[in-house]
Amino acid sequence: MNRKTCLLFFLLPFFLLTAVAAQSKTENVILITLDGARTQEIFGGLDLEILKAKTTRGKIEDTELYKKYWAATPEERRSKLMPFFWNTLMKEHGSIAGNRSLGSAVMTTNKMWFSYPGYSEILTGQAHDDVIKSNDKKRNPYPSVLEFLKHKLKLNKTQVALFGSWDVFNWIGEHEEGAITINAGHEPYDLINTPEIRVLSQLQNERLSPWGGVRFDYFTVKLALAHLQKFKPRVLHLALGETDDWAHEGAYAHVLSALERNDRQLKELWDYLQNTPKYKGKTSILITVDHGRGKTIKDWTDHGERVPEAQYIWMAFISPDSSLRGEWKNAETVYQNQAAATLCRWLKFDYSENNAQAGKSIAAVTNHQ
Ligand SMILES: [Zn+2]
Repeated sequence: MNRKTCLLFFLLPFFLLTAVAAQSKTENVILITLDGARTQEIFGGLDLEILKAKTTRGKIEDTELYKKYWAATPEERRSKLMPFFWNTLMKEHGSIAGNRSLGSAVMTTNKMWFSYPGYSEILTGQAHDDVIKSNDKKRNPYPSVLEFLKHKLKLNKTQVALFGSWDVFNWIGEHEEGAITINAGHEPYDLINTPEIRVLSQLQNERLSPWGGVRFDYFTVKLALAHLQKFKPRVLHLALGETDDWAHEGAYAHVLSALERNDRQLKELWDYLQNTPKYKGKTSILITVDHGRGKTIKDWTDHGERVPEAQYIWMAFISPDSSLRGEWKNAETVYQNQAAATLCRWLKFDYSENNAQAGKSIAAVTNHQ
């Protein structure tokens, strides 16, 4: 080897590293979760079997839900339900794994198949079935990826935020109490003192949802957007909840309405990001779910250990550092425990520093092509 070749070999790793770093555009990450939103509706829209079971009188074709959401193919049906997600986000900006009819699956590694274990797996990168086995308001024994990123990016408390519809996020989202900004459940938000925010903070406790610990997603989204505008966080978890609570009640029309409203809320968030230089072209978004639920008319309302179908979930990726578009096909199975490392990889951090047992980042969406 002559001197020049030798020098080249010596410098090559350096060039490769800077090339990867230069191509990585992500400066902010947003995690969005839709509690217990089934793969069945996400990929197929209205489930006709459930509608049939719910229609006790008259023809199913005459029902409002049929007229509003039915179409011949799953692609058409889901576009009627979530037009922004399917026609804009997934066509032009991102990709989604988890459609098993195309040979792509996303699964939890925890065997609990309910909320706290699912969110903890997403936020810590690991299942702990021996320790996390209830939805009780107990402090997460493990540090979350939100806390890890706060430390790595040297952020202050307002720049790492979790806005959740479910109050238990106050316990799931951080291991060290008070480390990040968490606003969850019917909790007033007092970091911004404007008439609009004061009204929202009060109204959520006047216009109560039917569930003690879960507020309507509208409030969660509005408060999160206000926080985004004022504090420009670099790490945000927006945790929506209505999809799960309506399903537990068997209120299928409300489940579909929640998904449709969540789709509009996604558009509102997306439009804000596109009109804000700090975020436009520099923000990676991961959208996923804590657990699935049953697939039959008997168990679609339910999830948990007795409903194995609930281990199948989905995960979507919108990133300036991923060129994948549309649905994944014939792909390796993705696991819920990979979400944390993927968020970190977009920001060029190695999550195994925080947790060596965590799932690895998903190469297909972090390759900086
Ligand atoms: Zn849940």
